Amino acid sequence: MNSDFREGGPRRVGHVKEVTSLANPIVKDIKALSQKKARDESGTFMAEGLKLVIDALELGWTIRTLVYSKAAKGKPLVEQVAAKTVANGGLVLEVNEKVISAIARRDNPQMVVGIFDQKWKPLRDIRPTDGETWIALDRVRDPGNLGTIIRTADAAGASGIILVGESTDPFSLETVRATMGSVFAVPVAKATPEEFLAWKKHVGISLVATHLAGAVDYRTIDYKKKPVVLLMGNEQSGLPDTLAGEADALARIPQAGRADSLNLAVATAVMLFEARRHLLILDKAK
Ligand code: SAM
Repeated sequence: MNSDFREGGPRRVGHVKEVTSLANPIVKDIKALSQKKARDESGTFMAEGLKLVIDALELGWTIRTLVYSKAAKGKPLVEQVAAKTVANGGLVLEVNEKVISAIARRDNPQMVVGIFDQKWKPLRDIRPTDGETWIALDRVRDPGNLGTIIRTADAAGASGIILVGESTDPFSLETVRATMGSVFAVPVAKATPEEFLAWKKHVGISLVATHLAGAVDYRTIDYKKKPVVLLMGNEQSGLPDTLAGEADALARIPQAGRADSLNLAVATAVMLFEARRHLLILDKAK
């Protein structure tokens, strides 16, 4: 844990603003972050929960605003996070139950909410090296799927996600919730299909695309030869030929039963743990 959150870290908070009205303009701006337009314009997003906010700060994310409910007031970790927010030039709001429920858009919300700057990894900065696995998602639509994939990527030790084409927003409240905090740990890049294919040509990777018509059993692929990019298709239409045609292997997960296909996040998890099987070791201490 970062020293700021240990005993003796900053504690005194000078500039806490008390807000009790939903008509408050800052509260309105925060509530607007449920809309993609407002997130895009401000370049920020919202994450809920004290642990998440602490993790985010430790990982170097910039907090703009910290909101906590009166019930959290005086808790040492909340005070420390508040002090760190102020020290970083951010705003701290102490609000009532009504305001925090409206911000989080749910009853019984978490007591702490953080507004952070978004971070996107530029595609040109991604240079996969040996032992790295990246995931490329073609037009992912469902926020729950994307959040689950980010969380699974984190758990499997993948290096990051490349969103190819028009995709759901990794910084929406629903996606961020589904990541369970991994949104702060897993780099996300975006690219058009053309940019992605051009990138693929000049980085030394093995592009393993998954397809229901794939000829190769996913368990027979050598994932050790080069850094691997797993390319997954859109939930409704699967991978277009323009992307599938550029793959080094077209992998299929054999299925039994009557289901046509696996859910995108489940298929990604199966691929990811196979591709990283040789790198994942059971930690007996856990
Ligand atoms: N109707 C779509 C189709 O025809 O491709 C189904 C797409 S599936 C819900 C979403 C993505 O998950 C697929 O594009 C593929 O990347 C992956 N997927 C799901 N089941 C798979 C399987 N058995 N083998 C390989 N990939 C699979």
